[in-house]
Parts: sequence; C-alpha cells; structure tokens
Amino acid sequence: AVGRVSVEAWIREYARLIAEAAPRLTELDSAVGDADHGANLSRGMAAVVAALDSSSFDDDGALLKKVGMTLVSTVGGASGPLYGTFFLRVSSALGDGFPAAFRAGVDGVAARGKSAVGEKTMLDTLVPAADALEAGKDWPAVVDAASAGRNSTVPLVARKGRASYLGERSAGHLDPGAESSFLLVRAAASALG
Ligand code: ADP
Ligand code: MG
Ligand code: MG
Repeated sequence: AVGRVSVEAWIREYARLIAEAAPRLTELDSAVGDADHGANLSRGMAAVVAALDSSSFDDDGALLKKVGMTLVSTVGGASGPLYGTFFLRVSSALGDGFPAAFRAGVDGVAARGKSAVGEKTMLDTLVPAADALEAGKDWPAVVDAASAGRNSTVPLVARKGRASYLGERSAGHLDPGAESSFLLVRAAASALG
C-alpha cells in the first residue's frame, strides 16, 4: 500500500515540478490556447502546498480531497476542475490500491471533460499511464507510457478545450495539459516508486 508520507511527497513533488515548468507550460499554451496553463497550475499548486503546510489530515484520502478542492477553488481554467476532479476521485478510491485509484481519477477527468484518448488533452498522457499501472508495470515503464502518450498529442488535431477552436491549426503542437500530466506521473514515480 502507498504510505502516508509518500502521497504527500507525490503532491509536493508535483508542486515543485509545476513551479519549475510553469514558463514552459505557458509557452505551450500560448501556441494552442490562452497562455495561462503554467500560471493556472502554479497558482493552484502553491495554494495546495500552503494548505498542506497549515493543516493536518486524518489520512491520505482526506489529504487528497483537500488537494482536489483547493485546485477546483483556486484554478480558473479548464485544468482546475479537471485536475480537481482527478484528485477527488483518487481520494475516494485509494482503498482499492494506487493503480485502481489512479484509474478512477483518470475516469473522472474523462467524465468531467466529456473527453477521451486521441482528442489532444491530458488524457493522452493519463490513460496510457493508468493502463501501465493496472498492468503491473514498474515505474520506469509507467513513465515511458506517459511520455509516449504525451508525445502522441503533437500531430493530433484538438477536439476539446480552447485548442479545438484552432481546428487543423492545432496540429504540430504539444498539448500543455498532456505535458503537465506527464509531470504528475513523473512526480508519482519519484515519490511512490
Ligand atoms: P484553459 O484552457 O481554460 O485556459 P488551461 O490552460 O489551464 O485551461 O488548461 C488547458 C488544458 O486542459 C489543455 O491543454 C487540455 O490538456 C486540458 N483540457 C481542456 N479541456 C479538456 C477536456 N474537455 N478534457 C480533458 N482535458 C481538457
Ligand atoms: Mg489556457
Ligand atoms: Mg484560460
């Protein structure tokens, strides 16, 4: 089972990676969106870290619930409700083990976003990662699956979110949410692996 400190370490490592990558995430979003993905997520994850620093939690589920609620309330863009839903669903399903909980989170994103693999979104990273986790792959293989999924967004035409307004012109660019989701998987690999 994933231990208490590890889940908190996952979230803190994700916040660190997001802060570091914020300029690059915003640059990716400037090509296909409105140039705020880095700012959105770094603001949200800074609020998450502040919440972790100032509160204590009865268990991992309560901690992850706070993460989800903080993202929903502090991130204005599409990514706030989507990542918020992800963490709220992971929180509820943690008792089933990490791979199943991660899958529940990914299914939550798909339901909330009315989206699926191949539409040039964060799901192109998250679904292959969930598949690899549920297949019992080790963390390096899970990260490889997430990386391949992220890279698969480059030639795709966006079908969801702001990038879809560009139509065919969205092709040839990495999806910003696919990149931030890759950081989420990388953070999990370093904290939980
Ligand atoms: P906004 O588009 O509102 O400015 P962000 O820039 O923070 O929000 O996030 C954009 C990212 O959100 C996209 O790159 C994409 O990965 C993801 N996204 C947008 N809409 C959806 C959706 N319906 N389903 C899944 N992911 C989505
Ligand atoms: Mg944006
Ligand atoms: Mg925006």
